[in-house]
Amino acid sequence: MADSVEQLRCLRNNHAAEQLQDDGMATETSMEQKRVEHCVGSIYNMYKNHYKQPLVLERDIHTQYLRRGLQQLSDSYECLDASRPWLCYWIVHSLSLLNEPIPESMASHVCQFLARCQDAKGGFAGGPGQHPHLAPTYAAVNALCTIGTEEAFNVINREKLQEFLYSLKQPDGSFKMHHGGEVDVRSAYCAASVASITNVSTPDLFDGTAEWIARCQKWEGGIGGVPGMEAHGGYTFCGLSALVILNRVHLLDLKSLLRWVAFRQMRFEGGFQGRCNKLVDGCYSFWQAGLMPLLHRSLHTESDPALSLTNWMFDQQAMQEYLLLCCQSPTGGLLDKPGKSRDFYHTCYCLSGLSVAQHFGGGDILHEMMVGVEENKLNSTHPVYNIGPDKVAAAILHFRQKEVPKTSRN
Ligand SMILES: [Zn+2]
Repeated sequence: MADSVEQLRCLRNNHAAEQLQDDGMATETSMEQKRVEHCVGSIYNMYKNHYKQPLVLERDIHTQYLRRGLQQLSDSYECLDASRPWLCYWIVHSLSLLNEPIPESMASHVCQFLARCQDAKGGFAGGPGQHPHLAPTYAAVNALCTIGTEEAFNVINREKLQEFLYSLKQPDGSFKMHHGGEVDVRSAYCAASVASITNVSTPDLFDGTAEWIARCQKWEGGIGGVPGMEAHGGYTFCGLSALVILNRVHLLDLKSLLRWVAFRQMRFEGGFQGRCNKLVDGCYSFWQAGLMPLLHRSLHTESDPALSLTNWMFDQQAMQEYLLLCCQSPTGGLLDKPGKSRDFYHTCYCLSGLSVAQHFGGGDILHEMMVGVEENKLNSTHPVYNIGPDKVAAAILHFRQKEVPKTSRN
């Protein structure tokens, strides 16, 4: 069902009324916001006055951009760069959302490269020979599970991974990102994510973690990096997802979290901001809107009668319009906002957010909401791990056949 252009929210006559009213009190923040609204508004107007074709996700040029990235990655993996497993994950997951297969030899190259990033003592580093860190560990495991071959699964040294996780665990339940490094909610999520998908989780590994994450929820409703820190989209996603994995979401005030995230969708632009009073950014289409499936599911288990059976609790149409009109680079790849350059990070999270906005529910209550042409449809993504739900199922099935390693802290 391709929507007619007239139905687009950004082209309605009253849309301009959604712009910021600064009550005659200009501040640096309000002026920045107005500049972005002006820029986004001129794109919406140009579309209204000149094109009037259904919106198109430029799949082919995005795919070319991603394939080139993967090629370069395997050609020059000696290069010192602290986020190479992330590049692997952003690219393979984006291609998977676009339903573009990765050639076998290329997938094998990625597996071999990630194997070289794995530390002898467990966990993955940002590049070969560097120190292991939880963020690239999460990215490497996600990339390998997205590739999903026997070779990919076999790269992961589960015994050592479990030892690495234990070595980062703190007495208060939190985790350090790396040895000698900082503690924050990202590490709890990365640890819970890789431990659950590779079946190395034990009851004591996450002792106290859920309670520590709950302490990071702010009076605003969102979650900050550590207790007392300002609520932020990325940390909120990490905190809520980790609690879903640990089956302890009830420790949070979910209604207050819902109110916080719902108000992060920008009235005029249609995309999301990461924090209160910040500017719209395409990547928050996943970090913020991606909270909605998790919240929906959590509130559903509490039998909340107000829950919709067809829609997430944000304007799915408005966000798709923002992503399709304002975040596609004409040379392939997606971006933060008009005027910014494309990168693999934004390509991954803009596409992931677009997928969330297109697919509601699953199984018997799958409800699709597609802006633009039918070919815009992406594969769905798992709300907790952000890789394909079929990839999660295959990885869990694979690792469930193996025993949970028996490392202990003592
Ligand atoms: Zn961003």
